[in-house]
Amino acid sequence: LFEFRIEKVCPTTRARAGKIITPHGPVPTPTFAPVGSQGTVKTLTPDELRELGTHILLGNAYHLMLRPGVEVIRKMGGLHRFMGWDGPLITDSGGYQVFSLARLRKVSDEGAFFRSHIDGSEHSLSPEKAVSVQEALGADIAMALDEPPAFGGGREKVEEATRRTYLWAERCLAAHREGALFGIVQGGTFPDLRRESALALASLDFPGYAIGGLSLGEPKEITWAMLDICTENLPPHKPRYLMGMGSPEDLVEGVARGVDLFDSALPTRVARNGGLYTSIGRVNIEKAEFREMGGPLEDGCPCYTCRHFSAAYLHHLFRAQELLALRLATLHNLSFFMRLMADMRRAILEDRFALFRQEFLARYRPTPEEARLAQKQRWLKERL
Ligand SMILES: [Zn+2]
Repeated sequence: LFEFRIEKVCPTTRARAGKIITPHGPVPTPTFAPVGSQGTVKTLTPDELRELGTHILLGNAYHLMLRPGVEVIRKMGGLHRFMGWDGPLITDSGGYQVFSLARLRKVSDEGAFFRSHIDGSEHSLSPEKAVSVQEALGADIAMALDEPPAFGGGREKVEEATRRTYLWAERCLAAHREGALFGIVQGGTFPDLRRESALALASLDFPGYAIGGLSLGEPKEITWAMLDICTENLPPHKPRYLMGMGSPEDLVEGVARGVDLFDSALPTRVARNGGLYTSIGRVNIEKAEFREMGGPLEDGCPCYTCRHFSAAYLHHLFRAQELLALRLATLHNLSFFMRLMADMRRAILEDRFALFRQEFLARYRPTPEEARLAQKQRWLKERL
């Protein structure tokens, strides 16, 4: 059971509103999937996620495969039951983490051989294994194994990764038996490779398509140009998923370009570092300006945190490194993201998305590029 219904297309942008039907219920689109790498969206319960308006979660095959192991989760009745989430679940193939987090030993057409970042044990991931792992987890939407080329790797490397991604997509499709499997478009920052990758994958007739390998350090204009090429060359009646991009301005620009589904660890990770989203941009709650702010972080914010606590209290919790700080900040940020998605969906349905986008971009000040990259570098270093 998998279906995508388009309810409305924006007359002036490529934005659309629709519904993805899965065995665990419908997902109104466009939508944002919070990331639950280890079978949990850090600090929140499934009930809290529901209450925030979450329709679908993302689980990481790589993390779950290494710990607790797919066999354990299968014996516990699958990932839905194990983590207590009865709504739709997407899993990634594990490819991204193998190429970014694990100690990679060797990649060939056969698959990737790597050492676990946890204990150094040796593992392999082939297209067939990526599919069987995700099926054992019980994913409603699984992803084909892909090779994300490193940004700035040069044309030859990107060509090779794009070719291999296609080869692996074919093998994933052949191995796949349950749930919906999405193909992933690669092609780096080369317009012709992006187009070729999108067309080749489209010919394989997946029920949905993801766009990978973007926002890896390239300038934003290039990100959007590449995304345009992908969405122009993918079948219009199938859902499109932009992987791993999720700042508020990215979500608005992605929706305008015809993306239906997003995932990103950004709102939850930023929250744990004291970064909170407001309608005019992201703020750092640890800054002195919040020390005596008696009102909520944002007036009118309907989230649990803003309804019950002052910005001054949040500031204090972060300064004192209290655990509640992480929960309250995560609740606020996910509430902000879920409302942004719901507002966009409503705007598309009511034929006023172009105006919504214009007003949002005029009001919202994106986090400066240098601050964003510096933070990304810090996170990458922490992980290694
Ligand atoms: Zn709030």
